[in-house]
Amino acid sequence: MTQTNSVVSHFECYDCGSTYDLEHTEFPCPECGGILDPQYDYHDVEVSRDEIESRNGSMWKYRELLPILDTDDIVSMGEGNTPIVECPKLAEEMGVARVAIKDEGQNPTNTFKDRGASASVSGACQQGIPEVAIPSAGNAGQAASAYTARAGIDCTVVLNYQSNDIQKTMVEAHGADLHLADGKLDKAGGTFGELRDDNGWYTVATFQTPFRHEGKKTMGLEIFEQYDWDSPDEIFYPTGGGVGLIGIWKAYQELAEMGWLEDETPPSLHVAQSTGCAPVVQAIEEHRDEHEAWDCPESIGRGIEVPDPGASPWILEAVYETGGTGVAVSDSEALEGALAAARHAGIEMCVEPGAALAAAMQMAEDGKLDEDDEILIINTGAGNKATNALSYALD
Ligand SMILES: *Cc1c(COP(=O)(O)O)cnc(C)c1O
Ligand SMILES: [Zn+2]
Repeated sequence: MTQTNSVVSHFECYDCGSTYDLEHTEFPCPECGGILDPQYDYHDVEVSRDEIESRNGSMWKYRELLPILDTDDIVSMGEGNTPIVECPKLAEEMGVARVAIKDEGQNPTNTFKDRGASASVSGACQQGIPEVAIPSAGNAGQAASAYTARAGIDCTVVLNYQSNDIQKTMVEAHGADLHLADGKLDKAGGTFGELRDDNGWYTVATFQTPFRHEGKKTMGLEIFEQYDWDSPDEIFYPTGGGVGLIGIWKAYQELAEMGWLEDETPPSLHVAQSTGCAPVVQAIEEHRDEHEAWDCPESIGRGIEVPDPGASPWILEAVYETGGTGVAVSDSEALEGALAAARHAGIEMCVEPGAALAAAMQMAEDGKLDEDDEILIINTGAGNKATNALSYALD
C-alpha cells in the first residue's frame, strides 16, 4: 500500500449533519436521504502550492484533497489537467477584457464526467465493491462504463432512450449492461431507483455516491491554480444536477481555508440552463432557496435537461454566496453558442456548454458584464457528442 496522504476524515450529510466513517456504503444519507460529503482536515495538508504546480498527469495531482487513501485504489487514465484556452475574438465580440474556455472535451471520454467517474469508481474500489450502477442522460454512463472496465468492476447503466449512438455504443463496447428507459432522465432516474432497490445495487449516481462530486471538485482546484491562485471574475456553467458547479464552489472554499488564494473574492458562479428546463434559473429569479421540479423538460442539451435537481439548495448557496445569476437560453441559442466557439476560437463544444457561452453572450448584450471582466466558460463536453444537433444549426 502506498499512501496518498489524503487528509480525508469522514462523510458528513449536507442536509442533516449526520456523520459516517469512510467504510460506510449506504448512499444517500440513511437518516434523511441527503447528500454525503467527504470532510477533510485541511490544516494537516503537507503539500505546498509549489509542489502541486510541479506535479502533472491527471486530476490526482490533488490526491491530498481527494477521499482515496491508497494509490492502488485509484482508477485513472489521465483525466483532468485540461487547458484553459484564450478566446480573444470572443472577448472582443462580447466587449470584455478576457474570455477563456476550460476545455473539458479533452478528457478520455470527451466530457468532464470522467473526473466524477474516476473518483467514484476509485471509491468503489476502496470500498471493495465488485459491481456498480448508474442512471444517466448519456455522458456519465459512458464515463462510468469506461472507468469500471478499467477497474475490472461490473457496471449497469440505465440510459435515456434518447441518448445518442456514441453513448449507447461505447457503454456496450466497455462491456457494461445497458438498460434503456422509456423516457427522459427523470424516467431513467425513476426506473433506476426501482431496479436499484430490487437488485441492491451500489450507486455511482449524481449526489448519491459521496465520491463523484469530489472528482468534479478538481476542475475547480485546477482553475484556481491556472489563474495563479486567483480566479476569473465570472464563471458560466451549464447546469444539470450541478455537480461541477458545486465542485468549483467547494474547491474555492477549501483553498480559501488553506490560505492558498491570493485574492479571497470568489468568482461569480453563473448557472446556464435551457428555457425548456430551467428549474434552478427559475429559483434564482424568484430568490428561492430550493427549486421546484420542472414539469415538461424539453431540451436537446440532455446533460442539462434535469427537471428535479436534488442538490439545488447547495447550487443556490454557491450562486448567492458568489454573486452569481441564472440565465436560460433556447436550444437554438445554445447551438449558436457552440458554433461561435467553433468559429471564433476553434473549440468544439456540444450543446450544453454552448448554452453556457450563449448565456455569457446574452449577459454581455444586456450590458450586465463590465469591459474589464475576465470570463471563463466551462466546455463540459466535446463537439463530437452533438454533431447531429450541430448540423441542424449550420446555414
Ligand atoms: C452532465 C453534463 C452537464 C451537467 O453537469 P452537472 O454536473 O449535472 O450539472 C453539462 N454538460 C455536459 C456535456 C454534461 O454531460
Ligand atoms: Zn442526512
